[in-house]
Amino acid sequence: MKPKPLPLGSGWYHEIGEPKTTERDVKSLEHLNEPQGKIKNFRERLKLDEPILYDGGFGSQLFARDIELANSALANELHPTTVIDIHSDYINAGAEAVGTNTFVASPLHLEMAGQDIADAQQLTRLAVQHAKAAAEQSEKEVYIAGSVGPSPGAIEADSGDTTFGIANKDAREAHKLVIHTLAEEGVDFLCLETMFSAKEAAIAVDIARETGLPIAVNLTYKWTKERRTGKVIYRTDWGNSPADLLEILTNSEFSGDGALLDAVSILGVNCGAESRRDEHTGMPYAIVGTQQLQTALTEKGVNGKWMMAYPNAGMPKLDKNHNTVYTQTPNEMASHIPALIEAGAYLIGGCCGTTPKHIKAFREAIASYHSAQNNG
Ligand SMILES: [Zn+2]
Repeated sequence: MKPKPLPLGSGWYHEIGEPKTTERDVKSLEHLNEPQGKIKNFRERLKLDEPILYDGGFGSQLFARDIELANSALANELHPTTVIDIHSDYINAGAEAVGTNTFVASPLHLEMAGQDIADAQQLTRLAVQHAKAAAEQSEKEVYIAGSVGPSPGAIEADSGDTTFGIANKDAREAHKLVIHTLAEEGVDFLCLETMFSAKEAAIAVDIARETGLPIAVNLTYKWTKERRTGKVIYRTDWGNSPADLLEILTNSEFSGDGALLDAVSILGVNCGAESRRDEHTGMPYAIVGTQQLQTALTEKGVNGKWMMAYPNAGMPKLDKNHNTVYTQTPNEMASHIPALIEAGAYLIGGCCGTTPKHIKAFREAIASYHSAQNNG
């Protein structure tokens, strides 16, 4: 089945709402001239047993503070202290890695939101500086993930041409600007996330590997049922299963050398939007998605990759005041953490609708699981 075209500008519910406030946060950017953070090495950290706790939803935390912008990356310029505070809340809750507020910082997203595309680089720089500022204030060992989201709508490689899709070279250029800026500013790893298109993920990996940084690739899946076998298979909106992703990362269509998978350290699932099936949304989705990814890796004979999972807090629903609310509570989600670790997830966090309270509950669940393993 040909996938339904995504709505133009689908940043999804990562990115909703009209500009509501433009006042600037008052504090100046005094951290900009501070020295670089502690010497730490993310690749070394990956060798330890204990899972790494990632952070939770960012856009939903901006909304929770009544900041609704045409593009959430604008907050890096307009509300710097709020951005730092959100990172700090996650670090205080126990997150060991936090993602920069750059999910929609690309020139393509700024253009769609009617903003100046020339700001993309500066918004990206500020985002990394804010995440670093929060990490430094905490005096903890915190890793910074450079967030790279999908292009708005579809890309040429999926839609067949540029009438509907964005030209591959434009998507490539946009990713290049964001990814290289993230690397220059000193993120610890690159986190490609909420990708609907394995082909776009491949294009982004082709650029990301130029930086030499560890790369995480997270796709967002929905459940599908194979008519012939009755098997449940997770696929993106563009029809890509975990096995398809591995295939696309090992053929030479987007790289010239077929070695994209070698450059990827971490593969994962995030977000997830299943409106009618609770068993395929939030934490249950993360577990099944991780299992399917593990199966695809095993079947292809791929070893030495870490897996990552950070689902939404269930489905977003509108309450009687027309506010978006999410259905999975911190304790409910945390109760699935042992199963998620056993499925193979090593980097664990939350996506849309998850809060510092969720991350705190995950921290406790990981700690008690880990100590039970070590003492058992
Ligand atoms: Zn999400």
